[in-house]
Amino acid sequence: MLSCHEAVSRVLAACAPLGTERVAIGEALGRALAKPLVASRPLPPVDNSAMDGFAVRAADTPGTLPIAQAIAAGDAPGDPLPPGAAARITTGAPVPPGADAVVMREDAEDRDGEVVLRRAASQGENIRRLGEDVGVGDEVLPAGARLGAGALALAAALGHADVEVGRRPRVAIASTGDELVEVGQIPGPGQIVNSNACALAAQIREAGGVPEDLGIVPDEPAATRAAIARGLGADVLVTSGGVSVGEHDHVKAALERSGVSVLFWKVAIKPGKPIVFGVAPGGALVFGLPGNPVSSMVGFELFVRPALRALEGGGDLLRPRAPAVLARPYPKKPGRAHYARAILTRRGGVLEADVFPKQGSGMLSSMALADALVELGADAGDVPAGAEVPAILLRAI
Ligand code: AMP
Ligand code: MG
Repeated sequence: MLSCHEAVSRVLAACAPLGTERVAIGEALGRALAKPLVASRPLPPVDNSAMDGFAVRAADTPGTLPIAQAIAAGDAPGDPLPPGAAARITTGAPVPPGADAVVMREDAEDRDGEVVLRRAASQGENIRRLGEDVGVGDEVLPAGARLGAGALALAAALGHADVEVGRRPRVAIASTGDELVEVGQIPGPGQIVNSNACALAAQIREAGGVPEDLGIVPDEPAATRAAIARGLGADVLVTSGGVSVGEHDHVKAALERSGVSVLFWKVAIKPGKPIVFGVAPGGALVFGLPGNPVSSMVGFELFVRPALRALEGGGDLLRPRAPAVLARPYPKKPGRAHYARAILTRRGGVLEADVFPKQGSGMLSSMALADALVELGADAGDVPAGAEVPAILLRAI
């Protein structure tokens, strides 16, 4: 059976960035930068004071100097500092030509028209030099950078009112299953709530995509094909359920009848083995995820999330991973890679992974609390407590 690694490679090989758009900097949080950001101005834009105090020539200190000027933040760079004099200056104000140090106010005695400086200032002290942070022509952010608050602050400081970012993928969600009722309805006998659409919409948003819910699709070939036809109008179609080998599983056959070329079905993972990935004639990507709620979410994590990042042009295709140590033994048969929900705790310098005993593919209670999916390799048998395993971090630890 196809390995998870090979399946992810096939998915990523089918992904090309969708295109770009300009968005106002206030709307750009979390978006992926489309092109490197290159500074067309220096930061700071001018030599300026890092302190409230007195601008001086270091060579004139220590000593008592007449106060020849007062310069405040917002003043344009002005007259040179006469030799043997000081300028009163505020934080952020331009340092006058000739001055090479700023003595902080706390180290100076401000008397009538003159200032007493008892210690020698060193050259450059408390001066923020033009361009010391960013020089003209510097590449300050690479293409694909995810725009967080710091990146947006930098872009704003460099004068960008808007930025070019990757277009977010539109992702249709179709939930197959005769047993499903919409969230908020009371399930009748044999019915369950369609929780997958809600989970997938949240996962899509979190991955940077724009979800579009196509609703519940009956387990019936024509209805399945009709839903697929609608979903293929999006950049990506994600279905849940109906992708295994049961009599009521119509997704794979319906995809094939709709012209989708199937690039894999079934991956050697647990949970979530029956999973189909294909590309439609019009270019839309299709992921047929299993119906079990945890299988659907894990399948999304492993395959759909990296695809959405790639379509958006993000440089961060995969979740961060960290080595973790198993708190308890994990019983396992070789054959499939397991992705087990775990709580992570930092103990000294070590991350300890406490794998939930409830790992059933429908058990959402552990999914709701998990910090990470711990990866237990396909070839591994029983894994002892204390073994080091990779943890895919679902949130910052
Ligand atoms: P399937 O993959 O269609 O065989 O479904 C496997 C299991 O997942 C069954 O117990 C379904 O009832 C359940 N299931 C399927 N779709 C959903 C859904 N949208 N929300 C919650 N559970 C689902
Ligand atoms: Mg089903």
